Amino acid sequence: MLRWAEVHLDRLIRNFKKIEELSKKRIYAVVKANAYGHGSVQVAKTLEENTSVYGFCVATYEEGAELRQSGIKKPILVMSSTISEGKKFLKEYRLTPVVYDFDELKLVKELSVSFHLKIDTGMGRLGFLESEWNKLLEEIRETKLIGVMTHFSSADEDYEYTKFQLKKFKSFVDKLKRKFNKVEVHSENSAAVRFKLNGILTHSRVGLSLYGVEPCEGYPKLEQVMEVKAKVLTVKELPPNFSVSYSRTYRTNKKERIAVVSFGYADGYPRELSNRGKFLLNGELCPIRGKVCMDMTVVSVNNVKVEKDDTAIIYGEEIPFKEVSKEIGKIPYELMCSISQRVRRIYVEV
Ligand SMILES: *Cc1c(COP(=O)(O)O)cnc(C)c1O
Repeated sequence: MLRWAEVHLDRLIRNFKKIEELSKKRIYAVVKANAYGHGSVQVAKTLEENTSVYGFCVATYEEGAELRQSGIKKPILVMSSTISEGKKFLKEYRLTPVVYDFDELKLVKELSVSFHLKIDTGMGRLGFLESEWNKLLEEIRETKLIGVMTHFSSADEDYEYTKFQLKKFKSFVDKLKRKFNKVEVHSENSAAVRFKLNGILTHSRVGLSLYGVEPCEGYPKLEQVMEVKAKVLTVKELPPNFSVSYSRTYRTNKKERIAVVSFGYADGYPRELSNRGKFLLNGELCPIRGKVCMDMTVVSVNNVKVEKDDTAIIYGEEIPFKEVSKEIGKIPYELMCSISQRVRRIYVEV
């Protein structure tokens, strides 16, 4: 195997326990987008079997159906799809829709299924605006409403705005509770969990931190769950003044030993890291030379003991998603979600 991603499920469990401790609420594990590239089935199974996870959040009905087909039993919330997409799965797979506008509300009423409501308290994306609340409260009277949520836009960087959103959310929840007093109430993503918000909230919805990336300062230390690795295809010494890779953006000034690593942008490695990124080989950080290619990347290994077939670490403890993403103005979510299908996931069991 030339390229693979090790998914350390023991770390996932330890991260979960830390977050649960911090949140002091029931936890929805966010496993959308194939669990941020980690494999949603394995992640959900591991959490269901080894922790007190309450349920799972996905983006689409297909994602939810896949979890049910593989035996996941706990509640699954579908956060960003439409009822018309979900009609054929909804009941069969016990998937819970999130209703964010009146068209969706009409459809869940027709289907008579349980659902959560989404309120827009300042994200400006999905959810009912304050001006719609009165009509909404009228129209949900005879429904199977079981939860209500909102989403914070800036919990990683702005406590004041987060408090503003929470206050607005509370004003809706207070009205709602006159009729529905047992609903689940949730709004915290990974970053918000550290604020220890309490009062109305019953559940948290965490993604990033489960996978071992601290979303911001002031967060407990977590363990990155994924380690991405690839083999060295060949090692050789280039002569002085020899150019490397497409467009000749790097040129040796003296003799230079290089290793060609079988990992490129088709594997999800950002091309922006051309001449910038580093891979870890034999314990040493080796700088990338020239442009990242589709299937390969060249690194300098002048003073490192490296041979053909050695393993390079692309992302791991010493090259965390968080640091690498910062370097190129991306977020760790993007790097994780980009690791492509071609990179086989290897599960390190609990
Ligand atoms: C993705 C998502 C989350 C999880 O966010 P993290 O920052 O990964 O914890 C929570 N809620 C909603 C609505 C989301 O879309």
